Amino acid sequence: MTQWEVVIGLETHAQLSTESKIFSGASTAFGAEPNTQACAVDLGLPGVLPVINRGAVERAIRFGLAVGAEVAPRSVFARKNYFYPDLPKGYQISQFELPVVVGGGLTIQTSQGEKHVRLTRAHLEEDAGKSLHEDFHGLSGVDLNRAGTPLLEIVTEPDMRSAEEAVAYARALHGLVRWIEICDGNMQEGSFRCDVNVSVRPMGQPEFGTRCEIKNLNSFRFIERAIECEVKRQIELIEDGGTVVQQTRLYDPDRDETRSMRSKEDAMDYRYFPDPDLPPLLVGADWVARVAAGLPELPVARRTRFADALGLSAYDAALLTASREAADYFEAVLAAAPGVDAKLVANWVNGDLAAALKRGDLDIAHSQVSNAQLAGLLVRLADGTVSGKMAKEIFEILWSEGGDADAIIDARGMRQISDSGELQAVLQQLIDENPAQVAEYRGGKEKVFGFFVGKAMKATAGKANPAQLNELLRALLAG
Ligand code: ADP
Ligand code: MG
Repeated sequence: MTQWEVVIGLETHAQLSTESKIFSGASTAFGAEPNTQACAVDLGLPGVLPVINRGAVERAIRFGLAVGAEVAPRSVFARKNYFYPDLPKGYQISQFELPVVVGGGLTIQTSQGEKHVRLTRAHLEEDAGKSLHEDFHGLSGVDLNRAGTPLLEIVTEPDMRSAEEAVAYARALHGLVRWIEICDGNMQEGSFRCDVNVSVRPMGQPEFGTRCEIKNLNSFRFIERAIECEVKRQIELIEDGGTVVQQTRLYDPDRDETRSMRSKEDAMDYRYFPDPDLPPLLVGADWVARVAAGLPELPVARRTRFADALGLSAYDAALLTASREAADYFEAVLAAAPGVDAKLVANWVNGDLAAALKRGDLDIAHSQVSNAQLAGLLVRLADGTVSGKMAKEIFEILWSEGGDADAIIDARGMRQISDSGELQAVLQQLIDENPAQVAEYRGGKEKVFGFFVGKAMKATAGKANPAQLNELLRALLAG
């Protein structure tokens, strides 16, 4: 049976977070009444001229620097011609032969380890409007508020080999554009959407197979599902003697399948040519240097620092740098919990906290346990005041009721017994009361140790420090 290899490349549209559009002064705010935010330029009325938004270019430069790409000193806007009701000019202003960002790459983390995904390019372009099919009784409406919204289209090389890698890439990219504050990343509102190109080939074949492009996926789950459905479809098709036709397809989440939308057009169908209304975009080295100076510490640098300086595993460091908020939260806990091991903090942020956030469908910026609250708890766990089990209970109380760890420990008498005198007295009494078991233990029956641990925990209502209990008990039983 043929072994198939999957090949995937992604094209992502990230909406740049400028207040006004890419070539006009109209607002980009989401959710306005239809057609209240489209000016003469967005409508392509005669006699108007586009003017590039400096903020959009600056965001493209930030991106280029963050992925180690070349920021082109000279790039060119081109007209991509096609007819569609939501495109009033009859062309989209984009970049074709000379994009503003060239090359670069992103490192992703999967269950197979680390992998580098190369970027081909990133170019600036304007978004189209939106067709509305509801409320028009057999007709369609057009809302042009979105027309002219600035987009950065980020294109990868066909470097990914599984749905898992594609999702890891999409997540890393999503984290990065938010990290460097060029895109709000709101996928429901369409600020970050992916087109996924998928092909399959027999394992070992050097040439790529024919690809299909699945358009406009706006959730990580849909990216994963769409790829899995499409791979299955292509393999079945080929194994049944058919051939894959290059196509643009749509993913239907309700039926969990991809469907043909149209045959794929080639670049020549768009009759690209340089837009005569816009001069070439010149980006000087001084501008690039100023933007570079304003960049925050990037995810890769922070991940490396977490791993090297704090001794975290690559996996933990990657999770903690998935978003800037997560990394900031982690570092704030660390700073407020002096003497607490970074690995313990990482375990809690990636463990109990992450689980609670997931249950509540919250992101870390909206955590119900603040970094100061978690720090207070971890200090008490690290100094032995409470056991790991108690700490989990306290965390749940912090999550649902608020407060601080010390107050909860006092109010509920949760302090662990770490006073060796107190514990010793409890253990001595147990030994005196159970001479038969003591004799068994001393006779070589190791299992009886557990009997005493159980009794001691019961006698202390679970508050004995387990490590200390073990140590004292061994010493006492040894006689
Ligand atoms: P177009 O301009 O027609 O969209 P590109 O050559 O720019 O085509 O490629 C678009 C995307 O498709 C890129 O992300 C690229 O990596 C990916 N891609 C190209 N060939 C293949 C293939 N055979 N299988 C999977 N992905 C591919
Ligand atoms: Mg394309």
